[in-house]
Amino acid sequence: MTHADEPDHHHDNHYDPMTARVRALETILSDKGLIDPAAIDAIVDTYQNKIGPQNGAKVVARAWCDDAYADWLREDATAAIASLGFTGRQGEHMRAVFNTPDTHNLVVCTLCSCYPWSVLGLPPVWYKSPPYRSRAVIDPRGVLEEFGVSLDPDVKIRVWDSTAELRYLVIPMRPQGSEDLTEDALAGLVTRDAMIGTGLAGAPS
Ligand code: FE
Repeated sequence: MTHADEPDHHHDNHYDPMTARVRALETILSDKGLIDPAAIDAIVDTYQNKIGPQNGAKVVARAWCDDAYADWLREDATAAIASLGFTGRQGEHMRAVFNTPDTHNLVVCTLCSCYPWSVLGLPPVWYKSPPYRSRAVIDPRGVLEEFGVSLDPDVKIRVWDSTAELRYLVIPMRPQGSEDLTEDALAGLVTRDAMIGTGLAGAPS
C-alpha cells in the first residue's frame, strides 16, 4: 500500500504501533541504502493490483473445463499452477483441495497469515485476524454461516492449516447452470472467498 491510499493516513503520529514500526524500519533501511523505497512500492503494487484472485480464478476455471488439468492440479498443484504463469513468492509449494458434494474445504493459517499470494494476491484483513484463525478450527461451520455459507449438515468440513512451506487453494464446485459458459466467463464466477473456502462460486446470471 502506498502512503497516500492508507485510509487512516491523517498525521504521522496517528499510525497504529505496527504501522509506525514498519514505517520506522523502512526509513532506517532506506537511509542506510539497504532498500530502495521505489522497489518496495513496485512490489506492493504488484501484489495489490497485478496479482490477485483473478489468477486463482483462471486456475479454477481451467480445472472445471479440462479434466486432465484438474488431475494435474490434484497431483502437482505447484506445477499445474505454474504452467499458467502463476509462480513466485508464497506460492512455491501449492496444494489444491477440491470441494465435492460431501466435503467442503476451508483454509486458515492458525499460526500467522500464510496465504497463496501467487494465485490470490494479498490476504484480506479478516484472514489475518485472531478470531478467524482460531474459530476456523474450533467452529468452522459457524464461521461459514457468518460468511453466508450454509452447508447441509451432512457435508463434512475439512480445515487446512497453511504453513510457510505449503499453501492451499480451494477448488470450489462448478455452479449448476454453468455448462454453456466459456472458460473466461466461468472464471468470473470464482471469488476470492470461494478459493479460501469462506464462499462458494457464484451462480451464472
Ligand atoms: Fe502463516
